[in-house]
Amino acid sequence: MLIYNTLTRRKEEFKPLNPPNVTMYMCGPTVYDYFHIGNSRSFIMSDIVRRYLEYKGYKVKFVMNLTDIEDRIIKKSNEQQTTAEAISQFYIDAFFEDIEKLKVRKADFYPKATSHVEEMIELISDLERKGIAYNVDGDVFYNVKKFDGYGKLSGKKIDELEAGARVEVNEQKNSPLDFSLWKKAKPGEPSWDSPWGKGRPGWHIECSAMSTKHLGKTVDIHAGGNDLIFPHHENEIAQSEGVNENQFVKYWMHFGFLNIQNEKMSKSLGNFFTARDVLARHSAEAVRLFFSQTHYGGPLNFSDELLTSAQKGVDKIINLAERFEESIAKADENGIQPEFALKNFYNEFETVMDDDFNTPQAVAVIFDFVRAANKVIDENPNLTKSFLLELKNFLAKTAEDVLGVIHFADLRRDLHSSLDIDAINKMLEEREAAKKEKNYKLADEIRNKLNDLGLIIQDSKTGPTFKRK
Ligand code: AMP
Ligand code: ZN
Repeated sequence: MLIYNTLTRRKEEFKPLNPPNVTMYMCGPTVYDYFHIGNSRSFIMSDIVRRYLEYKGYKVKFVMNLTDIEDRIIKKSNEQQTTAEAISQFYIDAFFEDIEKLKVRKADFYPKATSHVEEMIELISDLERKGIAYNVDGDVFYNVKKFDGYGKLSGKKIDELEAGARVEVNEQKNSPLDFSLWKKAKPGEPSWDSPWGKGRPGWHIECSAMSTKHLGKTVDIHAGGNDLIFPHHENEIAQSEGVNENQFVKYWMHFGFLNIQNEKMSKSLGNFFTARDVLARHSAEAVRLFFSQTHYGGPLNFSDELLTSAQKGVDKIINLAERFEESIAKADENGIQPEFALKNFYNEFETVMDDDFNTPQAVAVIFDFVRAANKVIDENPNLTKSFLLELKNFLAKTAEDVLGVIHFADLRRDLHSSLDIDAINKMLEEREAAKKEKNYKLADEIRNKLNDLGLIIQDSKTGPTFKRK
């Protein structure tokens, strides 16, 4: 299995430290507002990576941090005359609601920055003892020139960065590239006691401390959006490898931006839709299929039209899933078990996913399967139950368990939210009876009624079936 590693800039064979265990850390949200659909791309793609590793039999321990102390949280708490804790707790709750709606599986652990200040202080103290961190009157900075590997992730060189850096207002730092490890308390800000006086941790140190505490000194996969390569992840490496001899992360994975008209969707540019706004107009499955149709590493433009067309793809999968459910309910073992290249579909799905999680190709394999499965059902009215179950299982393992673009348990509920499946079946029976009695007027009336409910009736050799328009 190959993963593109940002650190080495090439695809590498995936060899976790302690197979079958895999440790995975994902930089989570700063909880000062609802997250946008651009953030969702990173959350969903990391979810798919994790799900596929599990499909492959790995035991993944997945940790995502919550940045619950930061300038924007403090600013909002001052504006709303409340505490930073109240603001962050409100948006943590909203975060969990939204990722559940997006059908993103929960991480094994969501460490909060404010619960790990002690570990961060310890790490900063170690850096200070090693002469890598320096204290200027209660503010502690990282001296990037003391770490040889600085720039290895982003490919940036210290001299070039320095030449390009604008002259900082902060004259306390030795170099404009040095970054904050500990920020001296300002009036009205939450603060913690430390060897350098009251203050709060910088953002980068959070992830170094929490990833080490929960996943060990070397993590198999560390992921986040492209915007985090520099300086966030570069700084994490400098901090963690500055104190430990170990390599901090084996595979660095970065997700491309979700753009609007080729510009990164972001809060600061104001060109964003919150995930909850988008989910009011589109299904989670459409969002997930839309993201899966592009490789995680590349850019992707967002539009409502693209999501509407993704929904059409989801509907095709749902229709097949429903055909499975209906025919499985009627089938037994007295039937045909035709030739079907199910193994090939599994092989193709795995081959493309093994190649750095090529989800667009995986989606193509699933649609090939949908076509082939519909055909085999059309041509064989009498399939055995075990054959149908095997086919259904392919959809369950790939489209449902890995990509999360369909959910069998939701089929009845979603499709017929206001309809009762038994009532539909009863109407179909009445229509059949009317046809037998040559009462075509009544038969047509019933069909029209079902059409009005958003259903298409298909007559086949085995009797009528219905699907969503
Ligand atoms: P933030 O709350 O801004 O720290 O972002 C949370 C996660 O979403 C991080 O992994 C970011 O890299 C990622 N992210 C932010 N904006 C985008 C975007 N437009 N497209 C994809 N991922 C993003
Ligand atoms: Zn981070």
